[in-house]
Amino acid sequence: MENKNFDSCVSFFLQNGAFMGRFVRLDKVLSQILKNHNYPLNVSNAVAEVTTLAALSASMLKFDGLFTLQLQGNGPVSLLVADVTKDGKIRASAKFDEQKLNQAKTLRKTEDIVEETPHLIGGGYMALTVDELNGTTPYQGIVDLKGKNLSEIALRYFQNSEQIDTYLKLFIKKTENNDESFLSAGIILQKMPLKGGKNADFDEERINIAWEDAGAFINSLKPDEVFDDTLSAEQILHRLFHSSNLQISAQRDFKFGCRCSKEKLKNTLCSFDQKDLEDMFDEKGCIEAVCNFCGQKYTFTRHELKLKEKYLQ
Ligand SMILES: [Zn+2]
Repeated sequence: MENKNFDSCVSFFLQNGAFMGRFVRLDKVLSQILKNHNYPLNVSNAVAEVTTLAALSASMLKFDGLFTLQLQGNGPVSLLVADVTKDGKIRASAKFDEQKLNQAKTLRKTEDIVEETPHLIGGGYMALTVDELNGTTPYQGIVDLKGKNLSEIALRYFQNSEQIDTYLKLFIKKTENNDESFLSAGIILQKMPLKGGKNADFDEERINIAWEDAGAFINSLKPDEVFDDTLSAEQILHRLFHSSNLQISAQRDFKFGCRCSKEKLKNTLCSFDQKDLEDMFDEKGCIEAVCNFCGQKYTFTRHELKLKEKYLQ
């Protein structure tokens, strides 16, 4: 059943615009992403978490093209990637080594628990990229993967790289039915630069106290509350921030969406060495390629790839 309180992001301000926040909850987007794959539980959990952080981070930015969040590491999960278009279409995928994943779980005796994302991905980096898709150089911010969970890594990115005072919290919960999917929620709050001049509304000391209070309110947010599908985002935010001059400014929806096409996949295949391509032909003389994000199958003939009839050594 469709849950109208999920798969959206609510923008809000506190303290007359001194703090800007976003509150995201995902449900169907995650099940649509995960049904395209058959990931082990640990990997699905990490993909759900990265998707939620991507939705949250993208919603803080103004862009016309594409936002991408990518984690790359030397652990059993070597890549986690989620991208968000300007109109809220999200897709995500992971690359992992199942054998290494099982070995690591045995070593750490964590067979029965879902581990935090940084444990799976190991040492590496997280990159946030905004590509306007208009030929200009994409903007990219990078942070290393040191942290006990993904929220901690993201917080370090905003605090240290972007130098913005930030609170951020992510929630992930496996759904109770058997579809191996997840519900997620994320909240971010950032302190806006203080307006110049002696404006009583932006008294620095008062703002600092209000900032501390807002942090305490965010820390008081519980999974039971964010995953209560009878509560709207507005109701949850009102419970948290009713004494902080809460203003809800906008809501936008998210949906699953892949941007793959036969043409894009063909370009990828054509960048391969012809000798490697020869090994990919099946008995019918075709190459079948599958999109990593949505599972869509594309078939290419020798003619379509403009390959010579036979590879000449
Ligand atoms: Zn696709």
